[in-house]
Amino acid sequence: MFSIVNPFNKTFLSEHQYFTGAHVKKILQNSSETAENWSSTNVQHRLNFIKTLVFALTKSQQNLAERCSLEMGKPIKQSHAEVEKCRLLCEYYLKNAEEYLKNKQIATDGTESFVTYEPLGVILGVMPWNFPYWQVFRFAIPAIVAGNTVVVKHASNVAGCAILIEELFRDAGFPDGVYTNLLIAGDQVKEVIDNPVISGVSVTGSEKAGTSVASAAAAQVKKAVLELGGSNALIVLEDADLEATVPVAINARFQNTGQSCIAAKRFLVHSSIYDAFMEQFIKGVAELKSGDPMNEDTYIGPLARVDLAEDVQKQVDDSVAMGAKIVIGGKRSNAFYEPTVLTNVTPDMPVFKDEVFGPAVPVVPFDTFEEAVELSNKTEFGLGVSVFTKDVETLKTKISLFKEGAVFINAMVKSDPALPFGGVKRSGFGRELAKEGLLEFVNVKTVYIK
Ligand code: NDP
Repeated sequence: MFSIVNPFNKTFLSEHQYFTGAHVKKILQNSSETAENWSSTNVQHRLNFIKTLVFALTKSQQNLAERCSLEMGKPIKQSHAEVEKCRLLCEYYLKNAEEYLKNKQIATDGTESFVTYEPLGVILGVMPWNFPYWQVFRFAIPAIVAGNTVVVKHASNVAGCAILIEELFRDAGFPDGVYTNLLIAGDQVKEVIDNPVISGVSVTGSEKAGTSVASAAAAQVKKAVLELGGSNALIVLEDADLEATVPVAINARFQNTGQSCIAAKRFLVHSSIYDAFMEQFIKGVAELKSGDPMNEDTYIGPLARVDLAEDVQKQVDDSVAMGAKIVIGGKRSNAFYEPTVLTNVTPDMPVFKDEVFGPAVPVVPFDTFEEAVELSNKTEFGLGVSVFTKDVETLKTKISLFKEGAVFINAMVKSDPALPFGGVKRSGFGRELAKEGLLEFVNVKTVYIK
């Protein structure tokens, strides 16, 4: 039995019991039986259910947004935006999935050759709490549209959001077993992956969860997609338009109270504009409104759990002990951590070297573009980088220098249904969203006719 507690005011929200092994087996069997029929339906048939899901999402938006804010502390406006983004994702695949899943003719020395895309079966999603709807949707919708069924182990602290998602699929009339919650603990995941009905697994979360899931999948020779951490740099070159850059930089670091894998976690600023940047940036950070996530004008909420705020505090305190200086912020009160900016930071300090999953950021000066690239790549992660400059054409010739899954120019790194999303290095492998995400959990079958 475990309880969910509101991280803002510590009030009790609900109590849950993890499913037993026997119950999990039943769910997997049911999902597998449904997959046999679901996989043989055509794409248009499956998309008709997605259309109904869009209605269900819209109808439930207020309830969904509130539950998210209560369970993990996301400011309510941002919770609404997250639900809306799920709708956009559905609409993207409504428009494009049929085309992406069409047989692809290929010219060879045979009379006919083509590639056909077939579903794999039952896919497991292991999902995090930071975007409790968006992360699940971007895994589940393409997998289901491609003809798979899914079982979802959501993060325990957002069990209420998980229940609401399952209800959406039920309300939309999906056959029983297309989408099913697995209310289980992390240490029950291996047993699920080992079950023969599971054909693949997608995990978004910490490196620890990712490596554990990936090892279990590898041992069973099952496909895995890993979306793990990131420590994106945000680089401000000397010719950048500061007026335009600073508000984007603030959003890139502090949106969702800093709890995003693609947040800009290390700012690198050309030394010739460092002081001007800092002046505008600190002013903007000082104006960020912290408070009750249920208030429309709150921008910074509590972190999703007290232990997550303690982690950020330790990373900042350890960096300060190594010589970093706090310009603003630096204090914790329960799950709240103040928006914090650090200077005098070197690459060996935790706030630079490790992923900081909260509202704290180091700002490091550099003198040359080469130095900025070197600092940007000086991380075990490789999710994305943002670069701000007026000289876009020159920067376009240097994209390959960044060891990242994405390069965004004059914009923050963000996920977009139309663009593939994923990382290199310890940020993981595989892609979500776009055509690439739709084709992750399919059998790309080759047909050759002599
Ligand atoms: P976790 O990685 O522990 O949680 C993500 C999901 O993985 C949850 O469903 C969790 O379940 C599950 N999980 C945890 N351990 C295992 C395991 N051994 N095997 C299988 N599944 C597991 O993240 P935390 O909540 O502990 O957050 C810690 C850090 O992870 C953050 O500070 C951040 O750095 C990173 N993180 C990154 C995210 C991203 O978007 N890349 C998202 C969330 C966190 P349960 O909740 O039941 O433990």
